[in-house]
Amino acid sequence: MKKILIIEDEEPIRIVLEDDFLSEGYQVESASNGTEGFKRALNKTSDLIILDIMLPGMDGFEICKKLRSQGIKTPIIMLTAKGQEIDRILGLEFGADDYVTKPFSPRELLARVKAILRRMENHIENEEQNFFSLMGLEVDFRNYRCYKHGKEINLTVFEFGILKYLIQNQGRAITRDELLDEVWGKNVVVTPRSVDTHIANLRKKIENDPANPKFIGSVHGFGYRFAD
Ligand code: CA
Repeated sequence: MKKILIIEDEEPIRIVLEDDFLSEGYQVESASNGTEGFKRALNKTSDLIILDIMLPGMDGFEICKKLRSQGIKTPIIMLTAKGQEIDRILGLEFGADDYVTKPFSPRELLARVKAILRRMENHIENEEQNFFSLMGLEVDFRNYRCYKHGKEINLTVFEFGILKYLIQNQGRAITRDELLDEVWGKNVVVTPRSVDTHIANLRKKIENDPANPKFIGSVHGFGYRFAD
């Protein structure tokens, strides 16, 4: 059962949303202020977050920004007012997935929620695909093989792990810490610097010009992003 986190300080709206989602068969958890909502979102127990913007404690923009900067990818639908800058809300600055403008119909919001959850499921299926190909680079995930213009490239286990994770998150900026957690695991002590070393080696193997990478881009002050 999918769980929706509702962060909304206006009680009448919150109660209507809670009732609607419960009656549609969702689990619901809710928060009436920004600080509590942020804490709940950090726990990553919900599948989707409905986030109001004007909130006591911490506003919706700040919550969205902080969650994304901490690598929390739970989809977020913002409840916006007319005239709010949607491009910024959905863009890199805040990183919400969708929005509805108040006043909205619960039916409309529900449709958005369903669409996002469906998209997530498709994405997960795509992540399980076994083969990737882009600009002459081919990766066979199942057999741990990588080819460039048809010629096999030998990658170390960690290089392969990094490449796989970056490709699975194609287009998204990934921090060194996230790579450490995902490729090495949380209990292994590796410094972010050694991630850079592995990336440098990987670039030497897969890029035409490692100094001017086309596949693994650097995101200044943040980490790396695989080209899409
Ligand atoms: Ca509000």
